[in-house]
Amino acid sequence: MGYVIDPAPTPSVAVDGTEDRFPVRRIFCVGRNYAAHAREMGKDPDREPPFFFTKPADAVVDTGQTVPYPPQTEDLHYEAEMVVAIGTGGRDISEADALDHVWGYGTGNDLTRRDLQKVAKDMGRPWDWGKAFDNSAIIGPLRPVSKVGHPASGSISLTVNGETRQDGDLTELIWSIPEVISILSRSIALQPGDLIMSGTPAGVGALKPGDICTASVVGLAECTVTIGARD
Ligand code: MN
Repeated sequence: MGYVIDPAPTPSVAVDGTEDRFPVRRIFCVGRNYAAHAREMGKDPDREPPFFFTKPADAVVDTGQTVPYPPQTEDLHYEAEMVVAIGTGGRDISEADALDHVWGYGTGNDLTRRDLQKVAKDMGRPWDWGKAFDNSAIIGPLRPVSKVGHPASGSISLTVNGETRQDGDLTELIWSIPEVISILSRSIALQPGDLIMSGTPAGVGALKPGDICTASVVGLAECTVTIGARD
């Protein structure tokens, strides 16, 4: 058996302090998981069940890269997020067992074409064109659980050109990481290599060509992206 075209390379993200890479299978993202961000997006942050969207695995970009300003948008936004890397898959995972499925954690930036997302919301269409575009998942080097444990409190922040734009705390998550893993695994079978972007705190805003944007989470390696000229 041969492939009729060349198969794509396996997308992967860096592992901090090593030459090894974490192979990425899928990227699941949690919508509105910090109350103050839900409010700034005009939504009631009550504990309605979490919802998810996805990005393609090959949207990942390592820290320190320049990505072109994406096409079809006039409102590219940053979103600092903690990223959960799944090492062991499963279905119907209990909250008590959920953290046993985590390989490690990283810092991410869920780049968003906010204007296209707004059109999708207003028209009841899928979010894909607002969220799932090329180079839309900036992911810093992962650190394994053996080194960082399971971060559940402390700073999650973001700067643009050195100015603080987001300054939240992991304790503000509406749905905790064990809850997110458990709920997600009721709808799909989680697989090794899946990444979960766990939501962003308040303070999202626009990026323009030339901006340097750094997301940080306490105890984790930060991720920086430079926005290049239009694609
Ligand atoms: Mn997000």
